[in-house]
Amino acid sequence: MRQRQSSDKQVLAWAKQGFPPGTEAFAYKDNVLAVENVLLPVIAASVGTPFYVYSATVICRNYRAFKAAFAGLDILVAYAVKANSNQAVLKLLAGAGAGADIVSGGELRRALAAGFHPQKIVYSGVGKTAEEMDFALQSRIGCFNVESPAELQLLSARAQALGAEAPVSLRINPDIAAGGHAKIATGKAENKFGIPQAEALQAYALAARLKGIKICGLDVHIGSQIEQAEPFARAFAFAAGLVQDLRRQGFSITHIDIGGGLGIAYQAGAKPPLEPGAYAALLRQYLGGLGLSFIAEPGRFITGNAGALVTKVLFVKPTAAKNFIIVDAGMNDLIRPTLYDAWHEIVPVVAPPAGEPCYQSDIVGPVCETGDYLALDRQMPLMPAGALLAVLSSGAYGAGMAGNYNSRLLVPEVLVEGGRFAIIRPRATYDSLLAQDKIPDWL
Ligand SMILES: *Cc1c(COP(=O)(O)O)cnc(C)c1O
Repeated sequence: MRQRQSSDKQVLAWAKQGFPPGTEAFAYKDNVLAVENVLLPVIAASVGTPFYVYSATVICRNYRAFKAAFAGLDILVAYAVKANSNQAVLKLLAGAGAGADIVSGGELRRALAAGFHPQKIVYSGVGKTAEEMDFALQSRIGCFNVESPAELQLLSARAQALGAEAPVSLRINPDIAAGGHAKIATGKAENKFGIPQAEALQAYALAARLKGIKICGLDVHIGSQIEQAEPFARAFAFAAGLVQDLRRQGFSITHIDIGGGLGIAYQAGAKPPLEPGAYAALLRQYLGGLGLSFIAEPGRFITGNAGALVTKVLFVKPTAAKNFIIVDAGMNDLIRPTLYDAWHEIVPVVAPPAGEPCYQSDIVGPVCETGDYLALDRQMPLMPAGALLAVLSSGAYGAGMAGNYNSRLLVPEVLVEGGRFAIIRPRATYDSLLAQDKIPDWL
């Protein structure tokens, strides 16, 4: 073959540096990759490929580590359902004591069905509909995070129509740049999220005037995949100042929702990003003395590194430019690489022998889009057709963002705990795919 072999004594990044910190659920046992105590080829033989797999132990461990970092504070850890909304994952977290941060009526139904206590559910998002508000009011959720005066007006109207009272936090946009990519930064003035800080006092005054609205908090979610302390410190300092202003004006602020956004490591050899302990220390430093309770909304931190997407090599296409490793998972299954330029470590399920030569390779899917790739320009050993690859750090914003483009079926999800595994979403079927469409009788 004409692959360009890399010059130095190539050692795969992950082989030299280990897997990204946080992915400890995945480890080789006699050269075969396992999640906890289950070998990935065993799952592949049972469900086929591609599939998502998650470690229940690591999901719970991450939740507990996050919660423990805030020990002594009155905090609700509300898992951001959108990161991974499988009912089994939600039930696991509800059982561990978590709350839920939801962004749609669909997620509210998921959260309630999985057993989250309604009072532990907070509802975020810029575009809640009247129907969604009604259902959330009837369900008596803990708090609405409101993002505009227009939303406040509608929520007030819906609450009055139902004879209910809506507990409200206003999400204020602190104009802070944060997040691993422009598409997941939410806290800059030019982002659609939150109420501009210059209008904060006015918005609280409106909330106080409106019937059916009960002001209880302030929300400052600033973005996702934040790896440094600095943006959080600025957001917390901003929130502390605003709480004091609001209290001086007579508004009763009892809690601060600090949002989500704590980053995780995606690259082998990466320095672990800001840890929950340091994050909690910032919270204590800036907001600890104000007699507040807290809500945090971690998503990625809980599930991201607990999961992987397992895919099979279909073909290898060597070209003059590079090798293309064509696999059976595509951008419709995992959109992060092409949407966010995200890096996922991709490792062979059967470890190649030490010293195996590597080639510059793109790992691409079958979807008819140039943007359909899982990784670009990676050093990979020769992968025979049929070999399995694990795309690490795919437990958050993986399956939940998947779609049917190219009429591809949604892939199964599998949950592992110790030595057992369960299919928590079966592979979709072509019958169900076709049954979604209806042909008018005049055709
Ligand atoms: C997406 C989102 C989160 C979760 O973000 P992570 O980076 O996954 O922790 C939390 N709160 C809100 C409002 C969000 O939109």
